[in-house]
Amino acid sequence: MIPSQILQCAQPELQPYAVPLFGQLGRLAKEAKTFRLPFQVDRDRILHTQAFRRLQYKTQVFAFGHGDHFRTRLTHTLEVVQISRDLARTLGLNEDLAECIALAHDLGHTPFGHAGEEAMNACMQQHGLHFEHNEQSLRIVTILERNSHNYGGLNLNTEVIEGLMKHREINDSSAPGYLRSLSLEAQVVNLADEIAYTVHDIDDGLRANLLTIDDVKATQLGKKIFDRVDSNTQEARGMFVDTLLGDLFEQIPRVLLQHSVKTLSDVYACKHSLIFFSHAIKKQLEEMRDLLWKNVYGSQSVQAQAEYGKKIVSDLFTFFMTNPSERIQALIHQTGSSLPLAVKDFIAGMTDAYAGEMWTEVMTK
Ligand code: MG
Repeated sequence: MIPSQILQCAQPELQPYAVPLFGQLGRLAKEAKTFRLPFQVDRDRILHTQAFRRLQYKTQVFAFGHGDHFRTRLTHTLEVVQISRDLARTLGLNEDLAECIALAHDLGHTPFGHAGEEAMNACMQQHGLHFEHNEQSLRIVTILERNSHNYGGLNLNTEVIEGLMKHREINDSSAPGYLRSLSLEAQVVNLADEIAYTVHDIDDGLRANLLTIDDVKATQLGKKIFDRVDSNTQEARGMFVDTLLGDLFEQIPRVLLQHSVKTLSDVYACKHSLIFFSHAIKKQLEEMRDLLWKNVYGSQSVQAQAEYGKKIVSDLFTFFMTNPSERIQALIHQTGSSLPLAVKDFIAGMTDAYAGEMWTEVMTK
């Protein structure tokens, strides 16, 4: 057991609506007590998965290998982690839990970013199935990665697992056992993800010369930031994050008060999200996202990379459906899944570089 005077220092000002330090919902399989807190143990398990290490070679927006300084899926994840922790600590939420959810939130991404995800979804639909990266993140931590022979998956605390169900309908009656709303820690990570990708995509867009500072300044939010920091993009990036966090810090206590949310049970019982931007910032973010779509995501260079990634994912899927490798047979054996699910698990786990090499290999067979 952790001595109580030390425990008090672990996170002294947790609010009653936070998930408690030791959690409440437990793990599926019982485990012996540890010296570290339950969510610290979970963080360790997520960080040491192979899926986490592969994030460094997966595309965020700019394909891996196209430049050393663009965000990868790993650096994006680390940015989401730090913003989640900042939000959680300032709001008196469970920082360890927020960190766990943030670390795991993109584990299920295919190679080649959203283009790879789109191609994989199209492949799965041919078999009456679908693909969605959040669901795959969940599958990785509950089935595909192993921590012990005594249980499947990582046996994470239920609060972490539920926190990864980002797009699942809250109180979805078709998901028995998952009737609670998301914890505030999970809601915080969703917003931290949005802050991280919006701000770093502006930064990467400027680096790739797909955006100019004048383009950014022409938006309401961009003007507000660049009026304060000249044209130093690093300083501006920090100020973007700070401005968006500032909005949430003002907004959240007001929303919690408005909905009489005082305890964790109140959070679980609330039928809608409690963590969202003010109306004004939401509008400004929409304007910024429009700019990013027009100049960055929709640009010829990013689209060309996307088409290349889609072709690789789709060709690999077709090949392995008719030529299931030993690795795929092993996945079927290990998970009891159908062939399309095992092919999907194998390809979704690949890094950009590995998928490219594999494509060259199988296309020349
Ligand atoms: Mg993300």
